[in-house]
Amino acid sequence: MNEDMESVADFRLRAREWIKANLGPIQPWDLDQNCENDEEERRAVARDRALQRKLFDGGFAGICFPGEYGGQGLTLEHNRAFNEELIGHEFPSRFAVPTFSPCAAVLLEFGTPEQKARHIPAILKGEEVWVQMLSEPGGGSDVAGATTAAVRDGDDWILNGSKVWTSRAWWADWGLCLAHTNWNVPKHQGLTVFLLPLHQPGIEIQRIERLNGESEACQEFFSDVRIPDSDRMGEIDAGWTVGTRWMYHERVGHNSPYVSRPVGLTKSASEGPTPVAIARKAGRLDDPAAQDMIGEARALRIVTHALDRRLAAAAASGKGNMDNSSIGRLFRGVASVRQRTIAFDLAGSGAAAWTEEEEEATGAQGMEFLMRQVSCIGGGTTEIARNVVSERVLGMPREASGDRGVAFRDVPRGPKRS
Ligand SMILES: Cc1cc2nc3c(=O)[nH]c(=O)nc-3n(C[C@H](O)[C@H](O)[C@H](O)COP(=O)(O)OP(=O)(O)OC[C@H]3O[C@@H](n4cnc5c(N)ncnc54)[C@H](O)[C@@H]3O)c2cc1C
Repeated sequence: MNEDMESVADFRLRAREWIKANLGPIQPWDLDQNCENDEEERRAVARDRALQRKLFDGGFAGICFPGEYGGQGLTLEHNRAFNEELIGHEFPSRFAVPTFSPCAAVLLEFGTPEQKARHIPAILKGEEVWVQMLSEPGGGSDVAGATTAAVRDGDDWILNGSKVWTSRAWWADWGLCLAHTNWNVPKHQGLTVFLLPLHQPGIEIQRIERLNGESEACQEFFSDVRIPDSDRMGEIDAGWTVGTRWMYHERVGHNSPYVSRPVGLTKSASEGPTPVAIARKAGRLDDPAAQDMIGEARALRIVTHALDRRLAAAAASGKGNMDNSSIGRLFRGVASVRQRTIAFDLAGSGAAAWTEEEEEATGAQGMEFLMRQVSCIGGGTTEIARNVVSERVLGMPREASGDRGVAFRDVPRGPKRS
């Protein structure tokens, strides 16, 4: 920290006053983010854009972003202090992930000065929400196996193919898109990343309904979409270099120094029922088996927060990498599944059938249980995180792969490409 920089203590006081004067209490849509219907979601998006603008005008947007792009140029400790002061207050939740991290983090690392000057201030002012376009209908784990193709045409590129599971594409503004640009080399050597305005001719966006009725996930179909070369990020065919940092920032997620969000925000930490509340409602507070589960859920929460804090410090100090972020990703995934399973078990029969009065305390646990695997899939699966940890952290042998060293064009994948 340089000597001219405001101390964390002074900054915290200033932030506390400003937050108290300008931000209301936290709202339900800040917690689980998805609204009951599209109209409500659009209202929440507009509200988040206005909130982000308010932060910008108040001098609290982009605390760790460089001043030259509209940020505050401060440290992780300042961001942490701000996030602690944010507890209990509304905040622009739709900007946290993936707009600030991974998208803006990747822009800062690999964008040209022109790209950064165009997009970072717009993001900080609430004018641009970004999404990430990695997964494809043919599979999301094998990111480098993307078959969405971009072909050079003069000063432009022509994009064809499809991305899927893109959260919130239907109302967002821009996407980071990974495409194959060279089929004559092994898959990792022929990828390029593009910045893509989502609502333009040639892009059709379809919504996908999930088990719980939400339809925030989208599939995009690209038909001869023209992309100017100035919207290419990083070198041609060097997209894997961008992609590995992109996936690192994705795994860091809410722990990124670029994300402003109340510390420790989870449904149960604020409005949702805690394991104790669920057990009380189910009349099981004196049951020793229930007490064990409550203790286990609490231990998982404490370890998750401690790990998050350590990974955030590693990310801010430049020591964060794919290896340690994969440990965090794996732990968060399995811990979340176990916590939802505990909540379901505690709720007992109330999680399978419930009265209106019981809905919040026990009924909601049924749907949370059915959706529990989401935390092991979104942001890269826990199986892939296990592979990274076993191969790169524990030094175990690499998984067998049929496409290593083979030109991507020659990798068998259905009908042959001419
Ligand atoms: C809530 C949510 C939000 C999402 N948001 C986005 C988004 O915004 N943008 C985006 O691009 N994607 C998004 N995704 C997609 C997500 O990244 C993919 O679902 C994920 O990477 C897995 O890809 P897949 O579903 O195609 O499964 P596949 O890759 O087909 O894998 C199927 C199963 O096989 C396992 N598997 C595959 N390969 C291996 C291996 N080598 N070793 C061991 N096991 C393996 C996987 O772990 C998985 O269990 C989201 C997903 C969810 C659930």
